[in-house]
Amino acid sequence: HLGTVLRVRLEKPILPGRTSTFELEFEGQVPVQIRRSGRDNADGIAYSMTQWYPKVAAYDDRGWHADPYVAREFYGEWGDYDVRITLDSSFTVAATGVLQNAVTIGRGYDTGGKALKEQSGERWTWHFLAEDVHDFAWAADPDYVHTTAQVPDGPLLHFFHQPDGATDEAWAQLPAYMVRSFQYMSAHFGRYPWPQFSFVQGGDGGMEYPMLTLITGGRRLGSLVGVSVHESVHSWYYGVLASNEGQYPWMDEGMTEYASSKVMQQLFPREGDPHAGAFRSYEALARSDRHEPMSLHADHFSTNFAYGVTAYSKGELMVHQLAPVIGERTVMDGLRRYWNACAFEHPRPVDLERSMEKASGLELDWYYDEWMNTVRELDYGIAAVMGREGATRIVLRREGEMLMPVDLAVELRSGEVQRWHVPLSLTLGAKAPGSEEFDFTVLPAWQWTDPEYAIQLPFALGDIVRVEVDPDARTADLDRSNNAVVLDGASGFARP
Ligand SMILES: [Zn+2]
Repeated sequence: HLGTVLRVRLEKPILPGRTSTFELEFEGQVPVQIRRSGRDNADGIAYSMTQWYPKVAAYDDRGWHADPYVAREFYGEWGDYDVRITLDSSFTVAATGVLQNAVTIGRGYDTGGKALKEQSGERWTWHFLAEDVHDFAWAADPDYVHTTAQVPDGPLLHFFHQPDGATDEAWAQLPAYMVRSFQYMSAHFGRYPWPQFSFVQGGDGGMEYPMLTLITGGRRLGSLVGVSVHESVHSWYYGVLASNEGQYPWMDEGMTEYASSKVMQQLFPREGDPHAGAFRSYEALARSDRHEPMSLHADHFSTNFAYGVTAYSKGELMVHQLAPVIGERTVMDGLRRYWNACAFEHPRPVDLERSMEKASGLELDWYYDEWMNTVRELDYGIAAVMGREGATRIVLRREGEMLMPVDLAVELRSGEVQRWHVPLSLTLGAKAPGSEEFDFTVLPAWQWTDPEYAIQLPFALGDIVRVEVDPDARTADLDRSNNAVVLDGASGFARP
């Protein structure tokens, strides 16, 4: 073996389409809680059992992915887990999968209308079956209170919480929020495919596993709901769309953040852009000297700061920022297309790119190439606004290296705001009418090699109050000081 990696040499190679059976006996000592796994966590949960068994590494066209676990991300192969757990009868067990012998256990599990017939003896065996998952986690504690909530036309949600007097009220309110979260996710992002999902107090922080999450318990309602939404939304971006999280951490964390922001906006409506926080985090990273390309493997970022912001916030921003490129409604169409095309597979960035290209009919190679592989920065500004023969000439300038189409808002003295869109030549088209919540007029494309772009709009200079690029602040424009120009009704504007 090499560290935590066990290499088995086969007598005969397994040819394509063939199978081989491995039997593996192992013993392990459960450590006092370390990162994500172990016994007696900070909340006093007895067992948080994750990364607890020898797991077959994933194999794909890049070969084996036997990445040693360094308390970060996972990549596993699909399978069915048929697991029997035997331990003292005092424990209540939560696990990935559906309990098969609830009738001999009870403890809040549905016995299917049959009379409970508890197991005799001091040790009970719990039998769980999980189909089409890529990992199996479980937790056990004698003090768990187990409740359930049914998502209409969806899974049965389970909640395992150790009563402590301080956070019981928040845990009591959690099920109603989670039912709504699952309903929203299934309606907008793809239908949750498994029969159940469990919210389990345990582990450290919050961590996603198939059909289950372990979250620490000492949280007020907002934090408890926030972490529960994020971890359960991983059922979509990790559970079903099982990309290699080590290689492409933004594909599960960033996309989970994108969907979670929309869910949280539904649960706790607030004014403004629910994704604005992603830009602020990205901005802090971009202004630091620690920014690294998002194509790096999760384990190899130089700082946790760069890894965290890149995977979570820049990943969310990268989905959200497609809205000005292809339209926000088309982004949602593209995400559902991605779900339909790649569910229960190991999608890669190109799969997401192709889904967005097919949804929009536009070329998006340039977008994914620049954002994934470089730390280039985006800055578009207004260079000039001038009156010309009863019309107004507006000159836009690309100040940064990053390419983007440009959304333009023109506010007239009548109070009307007109929206214009300048496509980027590389997209070979423009976002479609109806792809946004607002109407807009498409202008001729900006030839991407040109640093400046000029357009004549059919208004007299004196009729224009204000001109702004990226008026919804949906792009990663790092210098917004050159984005808007306010006019006095008499003279134009020219930036040196
Ligand atoms: Zn996450």
